[in-house]
Amino acid sequence: MRVIRKGCGKPVVGVVGCLHGDEIIGKKVIDWLDKVSLAKGSLILILANEEAIALGKRYVDADLNRCFPGKSDGNNEEKIAAKMLQELKDCDVVLDIHSTSAVTENFVVVTRHPELVGKVPLEKVVWMGDFGKNSALIDFVNGVSIEFDERTGFQKVVDTIGVCLCNLGLLDGAAILEKQEHFVVYDVMKKDSSPVLKNFEKTVIKNETFYPILFGEKAYTGILCLKARRKIKKFIFP
Ligand SMILES: [Zn+2]
Repeated sequence: MRVIRKGCGKPVVGVVGCLHGDEIIGKKVIDWLDKVSLAKGSLILILANEEAIALGKRYVDADLNRCFPGKSDGNNEEKIAAKMLQELKDCDVVLDIHSTSAVTENFVVVTRHPELVGKVPLEKVVWMGDFGKNSALIDFVNGVSIEFDERTGFQKVVDTIGVCLCNLGLLDGAAILEKQEHFVVYDVMKKDSSPVLKNFEKTVIKNETFYPILFGEKAYTGILCLKARRKIKKFIFP
């Protein structure tokens, strides 16, 4: 795990890249942020799973984003998780950057801190509800995950992260507020059938209406996609 600290004072924003070693956009964002000059506050940049990055794999022993809060005497990922929470403990906000093999609109993932989603200039918001299993990074810090389709260009990715940092007060610039659509995951679809689905598009199968999320994610072995309901009017998080 590599940690870079820059700036001083509040707010303290943590940016985590490569919780999954094969999602290399996180490393590119960290390298970019390392060179950016801040208007205010501090950044704690964490390149999470260097061992997995070196292997070009998602993880070494276990999925790091299922290992929190971690163990100081555990396996590779459990040790990283424990160290990472120590490094991030003074953060006011944490942004956790991921990429997906799914063809999808980029989206924000939230488990516990819905108030943060408005800081991220993306239209789609996915509430994981009980499906995060209470072992993801954002279950233990005041943060959100941002999921980019891996085909997204680098400039678009850094523009999105840059606007987040403007909205959080670390960079100068006008805040861009997106009108957001909220989706709540309530179940998973197993890989025992093979319909072709489109992420975030209303789908009806056997009288069940749902919105597929992360259909096409290669890292999901037994799961075809997550199933979500769309919250149309005034959204109240469960
Ligand atoms: Zn990931």
